[in-house]
Amino acid sequence: MKLPLDYVCINSGLLCDRCQSLVDEGQIDDFEIEVMKSLIEIEGEVRELKDSTYNKSLQVNNLIIVVVTSGPDMTQQKWVKVAKMLHEKLGKKVRIIENTNNIKQGVIQVMFPARVLGVNTVWLPDGSVQHIVRITKEDKKVLPASDSELETLLSKLYSTQIKIRAE
Ligand SMILES: [Zn+2]
Repeated sequence: MKLPLDYVCINSGLLCDRCQSLVDEGQIDDFEIEVMKSLIEIEGEVRELKDSTYNKSLQVNNLIIVVVTSGPDMTQQKWVKVAKMLHEKLGKKVRIIENTNNIKQGVIQVMFPARVLGVNTVWLPDGSVQHIVRITKEDKKVLPASDSELETLLSKLYSTQIKIRAE
């Protein structure tokens, strides 16, 4: 897998200057090293991971979102397998999503199995933008984390204010 840190640094836990500076600058969170280490192990079994790219992971409470760019040999089924293996290794709920600048596409992947009715863009009086993700009240129960946790995670993921509204 294409990873932002070197394989040897991830596996040994002793980071070279380049890798260490990515962590120090906050481009990589400490917990991501563990995620990448697990992905390297999984790559031993799921060889098709080789040409896929790891972009980043975000974590709230019990949920980890891993953002990837799929290589030509990866399928949805294989990602489901990788997510299961990551879950077993990390002991947290894991969701792997495809890297996209399209907020709605990303939100749909993160919120599954809750269905997204729509994403509305709202301009606030101070000129900032807020995105409202609409779901049904019933689907609020099947969100992969609490709505406030998901709001934090999604806002960080897309560097914009994202709110969830159950209606
Ligand atoms: Zn390194």
